Amino acid sequence: MEEESEIVSAAKPRGKAKLQKDVAPGRLIDTFAAQCEKCHKWRVIDSQEEYEDIRSRMLEDPFSCDKKHVSCQDPADLDYDSSRTWVIDKPGLPKTPKGFKRSLVLRKDYSKMDTYYITPTGKKLRSRNEVASYVEANPEFKNAPLGDFTFTVPKVMEDTLPS
Ligand SMILES: [Zn+2]
Repeated sequence: MEEESEIVSAAKPRGKAKLQKDVAPGRLIDTFAAQCEKCHKWRVIDSQEEYEDIRSRMLEDPFSCDKKHVSCQDPADLDYDSSRTWVIDKPGLPKTPKGFKRSLVLRKDYSKMDTYYITPTGKKLRSRNEVASYVEANPEFKNAPLGDFTFTVPKVMEDTLPS
């Protein structure tokens, strides 16, 4: 029987996530969240694009409730608990270059997440070398800085895995 588990990709102000090793069944992220640096409540971020934007600026421009036009007094959108599996991103990771999509998948063997980029033509790029060759072969994407492709994956929070 397949265990359905919602996965939250989250960005925290100081990114001090505990490093845990085991993971839930292979699944895609379906919710994005950011933590308010003032009240520490979690706010749902509507799109991956907006989430990546917040994450990329998190160190110099920490997220807070007012950025979502809500008050710190308002109840949290999400609670950090094991009703969902949480993966915590490193703050400051670059935004995905325009036209590409970044995808994260939990491994079936529970070990970690893997990331890849989907090109505008639907090809999957799984490493820095594959990105470099693709950009080399497709000069129209030369404006996508190689440094903006990152294979750094979020930490999977063991204490939020489905039991
Ligand atoms: Zn707040």
